Amino acid sequence: MKDNTAVIGEINGLLGSSPRKAYVRSFGCQLNVSDGEKIQGLLRKMGYTFTEDEHKADLIILNTCAVRENAEDRVFGIVGSMKKLKELRPSLIIGIAGCMTAQSHVAEKIKKSYPQVDFVMGTSALSALPKLLLEALRGGGFTADIAEYDDFSEAAEQVRSSSFKASVPIMFGCNNFCTYCIVPYVRGRERSRRPGDIIAEVRQLVSEGYKEIMLLGQNVNSYGNDLGGEMSFPQLLRELNRIEGDFWIRFMSSHPKDASEELIDAIFDCEKAAKHLHLPVQSGSTDVLARMNRCYTVDDYLKIVDCIRSRDPDFSLTTDLIVGFPDETDEDFRATLDIVKKVKYDNIYSFIYSKRSGTKAAEMTDGTSEEEKGIRMRKLLEVQREISTEHYKRFIGRTMRVLVDDVSKKKEGWLTGKSSEFIIVEFEGDSSLIGQFVNVEITGAMNWAVTGKIAERNALK
Ligand code: SAM
Ligand code: SF4
Repeated sequence: MKDNTAVIGEINGLLGSSPRKAYVRSFGCQLNVSDGEKIQGLLRKMGYTFTEDEHKADLIILNTCAVRENAEDRVFGIVGSMKKLKELRPSLIIGIAGCMTAQSHVAEKIKKSYPQVDFVMGTSALSALPKLLLEALRGGGFTADIAEYDDFSEAAEQVRSSSFKASVPIMFGCNNFCTYCIVPYVRGRERSRRPGDIIAEVRQLVSEGYKEIMLLGQNVNSYGNDLGGEMSFPQLLRELNRIEGDFWIRFMSSHPKDASEELIDAIFDCEKAAKHLHLPVQSGSTDVLARMNRCYTVDDYLKIVDCIRSRDPDFSLTTDLIVGFPDETDEDFRATLDIVKKVKYDNIYSFIYSKRSGTKAAEMTDGTSEEEKGIRMRKLLEVQREISTEHYKRFIGRTMRVLVDDVSKKKEGWLTGKSSEFIIVEFEGDSSLIGQFVNVEITGAMNWAVTGKIAERNALK
């Protein structure tokens, strides 16, 4: 990352002691949310405080996602609506960051069609933001900096939105080039952080009282492939597990091609590792997987599932699925329903295929209508609802350890949290328990959560 100390000094000098408020909104995956927290960390150094209300902001930063077209459309809609805000308050500064603007055609479109925007800065916000902001404060007109920097670095401070759950990016970028995906084009190649820095950061977070550490990466289990054998992901898990304290380790997302037996051993050996694995399968058809360039077959995937479930039949698995990949046949789709029924996921995150310009799949023919894709999506969700309703019943009669997230939005006087298995648990309790582990005896199951009552606190680990 560039040394921006001098530029930050200039901004502080220019703004003097006048109060300044920023509204930072992140879209898309947890990595993006974490980037947004780092943007806030940088803004804090420039004297900014934060508001949830864009009407009260002197600076608005939208940290965007480009994975699907509807996410981009949403951002364009929001930027469009900000024209009024800028007319009411011409001193307002609007900047756009993130994956969307890392595509030069999007940066061009913003420049041409959205004059209310002062600057765009791709995924290189930490390096580019101070300079771009300084230009905007000086009234220099539209600027853009979408150069690739080795960003979101070790030392970057984060303004963390939670005091008990922390995300820790451990690697950036992706080498896989799945044919449908824009990520490798906007995030660059895989870069793993130094193991010592990650371990020190997690140790610090645990000492501050954080109860859940979420390790993040586009393919978190490919961690270390670029470190010349210094440390693999399973080794990192074991190192983190050695840190003293009462906390859970989660990680997301794992690519099936790197889900080795060594990883499964580490998950089962490390008592702090959550009893849950998010393992995106994308499709149940080996033919579609090959055209997606996923580098595994359905059989390879099911072998990993068998290996996990032979050690714990109740181990929780979740997945990502794409419906309507170009020329997905009825048979391909039935194979997706089959794998969902076979694996019995606790939850699925399913998306209708979205054409991303510049990717290989964007060049493929696609004979399946949007209407048919919608029908398939609804069918998939219906099948998963039935599975969840049935599968969640396995928890009835058990005591689950739960990290309490918040008050429940469904029922007054109730709390909501997540178990180690990443299952939503709802139960009656006092809001003073938010941020703590509690044991809950499970008495009921729905298709989106289980319910219960508080048992003895903190006895179960
Ligand atoms: N790296 C992770 C992996 O390989 O599983 C996933 C990261 S990706 C940002 C998150 C999810 O978005 C993917 O698992 C995929 O299901 C979905 N996705 C990516 N590109 C998509 C596209 N063009 N259309 C629909 N869904 C897409
Ligand atoms: Fe995208 Fe595939 Fe990389 Fe995941 S592994 S980020 S789906 S290219």
